[in-house]
Amino acid sequence: MRSAALFGFILYITTAVALSLDHGGPAAANRPSIMSRQEWNAKPPFPGMKPQRITGIILHHTGILKKPSLSLKTKMQNLQSFSQRPGLVSPRHSKPVWPDVPYHFYIDALGHIAEGRDAHFAGDTNTPYNTSGYIQIVIEGDFDKEEPGQAQLDALRDLLNWLFASYRLSRDSVTPHKDHAPTTCPGQLFMNVLPGFLSQLSTPARP
Ligand SMILES: [Zn+2]
Repeated sequence: MRSAALFGFILYITTAVALSLDHGGPAAANRPSIMSRQEWNAKPPFPGMKPQRITGIILHHTGILKKPSLSLKTKMQNLQSFSQRPGLVSPRHSKPVWPDVPYHFYIDALGHIAEGRDAHFAGDTNTPYNTSGYIQIVIEGDFDKEEPGQAQLDALRDLLNWLFASYRLSRDSVTPHKDHAPTTCPGQLFMNVLPGFLSQLSTPARP
C-alpha cells in the first residue's frame, strides 16, 4: 500500500514535470515540423536586412505551377540563389540583389514547411509596398491556374496557429499580398477559399 502510494506520487511528479516541459507555452506545444535553414543548407544572408517588429502576416503564392517531384531542399536552395543575385522577375521587370530569400516560410506542393528568412527581419518584394512588420508566407503553386492542395492548407493552418501563439497575433492580422500592392497574388483560386479557411483557425489571441 505504501509502495503503491509512493509509486503514484512519483508518477504524479514525473507527469507534472513532463507536462510542464511539453507545455512550456502554447508556442512550444503547437510548433509544426519545419525544415530548418541548416537542413536545407542555407547560405548566410547578405548584410543589409532591416529588423522588424511583427504585427501581421502576408500570404503569397509562388506564381509557378507546383512541382511535387522536386525536393523542398532544392527549391529553397534555388530560391536563395535567385534571391541573392540580380535577375528578372518577369520578362520586363528586374529585381535587385536581395540579402536572402524574400519569404519567412515556404510551404511546398506536398505541405512541407521550410524556414526562410529570419522573421526578425523584414521580407523583400518586387511590388511597391512596405514589407516591414510582416511575416511573409509563400505557398507553392500558381493559384490563378491550380488550386491549393489540402496538405498545403493543413500545413498553413498549423503554421498560422503556431505563429498566432508565438507573436500574439489574431487571424484578423492575416492578409493576402493583393491587399497591399497591385498583384493577383496569391491567386484567385486561393482567394476563393481564404475567407472560409481563416474562419476555421484558432480563436484569436488578443495582445
Ligand atoms: Zn505575393
